[in-house]
Amino acid sequence: MPYIITEPCVGTCDTACVDVCPVDCINGPFKTEGSGEEAKEDGFDPAGLQLYINPDECIDCDACVPACPVDAIFEESEVPEDQEEYIAKNYEFYGMDAP
Ligand code: SF4
Ligand code: SF4
Repeated sequence: MPYIITEPCVGTCDTACVDVCPVDCINGPFKTEGSGEEAKEDGFDPAGLQLYINPDECIDCDACVPACPVDAIFEESEVPEDQEEYIAKNYEFYGMDAP
């Protein structure tokens, strides 16, 4: 199961996870490809925004979890109950139906 980015990323978007992902499958907050460049631009305002993990490309390696300073990333089956809406958000960002 892929990894999912949840609510603590909203308003943070610091891209620490992007830098450690071996398959470059973490994208956003706007583009479904790339490495979160838009979140690294000068003057970027993360309010209301988050990054996403491509469910088709994530290899479940766990590298991003310890890199996240706000503990926003979970393996899909371990997403906390009050964060489950973020599973659909991650899939829908890539135009996929949530499982
Ligand atoms: S679990 Fe691994 S492959 Fe999946 S998003 Fe995190 S670092 Fe990338
Ligand atoms: S490291 Fe965490 S807070 Fe930073 S962009 Fe990735 S998921 Fe969001």
